[in-house]
Amino acid sequence: KKVADRYLKREILGEGTYGVVYKAIDTKTGKTVAIKKIRLGRQKEGVNFTALREIKLLKELKDPNIIELIHAFPHKGNLHLVFEFMETDLEAVIRDPNIFLSPGDIKSYFQMTLKGLAVCHKKWVLHRDMKPNNLLIGSNGQLKLADFGLARIFGSPGRKFTHQVFARWYRAPELLFGAKQYGASVDVWAAGCIFAELLNRRPFLQGDSDIDQLGKIFQKLGTPTPLQWPDLEWLPDFVEYSSQIIQPWRKLCPTASDDALDLLSKMFTYDPRARISVQQALEHRSPKSFKLEIYIIISFPAL
Ligand code: ADP
Repeated sequence: KKVADRYLKREILGEGTYGVVYKAIDTKTGKTVAIKKIRLGRQKEGVNFTALREIKLLKELKDPNIIELIHAFPHKGNLHLVFEFMETDLEAVIRDPNIFLSPGDIKSYFQMTLKGLAVCHKKWVLHRDMKPNNLLIGSNGQLKLADFGLARIFGSPGRKFTHQVFARWYRAPELLFGAKQYGASVDVWAAGCIFAELLNRRPFLQGDSDIDQLGKIFQKLGTPTPLQWPDLEWLPDFVEYSSQIIQPWRKLCPTASDDALDLLSKMFTYDPRARISVQQALEHRSPKSFKLEIYIIISFPAL
């Protein structure tokens, strides 16, 4: 029995923010796909038109570094989104102690992340939920951004506590201070957190509440001064934090090259308007971007 006369259901891959994800075979192409079943919940009339328009936009976002939305259809009161199947994700790679990540691997993963983001930002689409488990990796090592725009289409459901906790570590300070208007710079902050996490092999800023998240940020990067971030005090949830000074980047990311640290510091600029853009990050100087010495020592221990 095929779903939508086309997909042969296989096992469940997991439960996501919006519903169950299962593996299936697309009989039209013979390819393996991942189908995301989105509960439409209370909206009895079905998906609203705005959501449909946005989904159409996602279908048109075709890029090697963005997961392809192959098909979207309603079925038994759920919206089904069909994506290309991906082997693993960046979170699993970062956590796996058996996987060695060379500076070249890190640079390549991060570059693919930025490339995917740049395409979306060019079309004025924000991701809003950048985190390592939304960066899927195919069998050929290609990294692709997933869940693009879903946060905007379906809202950020607060019901799953774990998801909220997880996303918090990548949240930009303007969001934590309650900014209602924000831009592509929120994705840049999150990308910076992912870069640091790739380098350190552990989450960079692990707060256990929104307040604590800001505390963790300031502990490492210093409390922003009015000079650094003039608009800060006008944000809805602004509260004053005790002043702390920034720690040396060299200490925060001991294995990174000087160029990598320079890029990190630009992605972690407090004032969202002064923060580097994804395009600028891609063009950031970097012929010798990563610490080659370390690479050589690790790769050739016998020498
Ligand atoms: P979350 O909302 O937590 O980001 P998702 O809804 O994206 O989770 O995914 C739930 C599960 O389905 C995860 O275990 C994820 O690895 C898997 N998954 C999601 N998309 C794909 C895909 N395109 N290919 C393979 N597995 C996927």
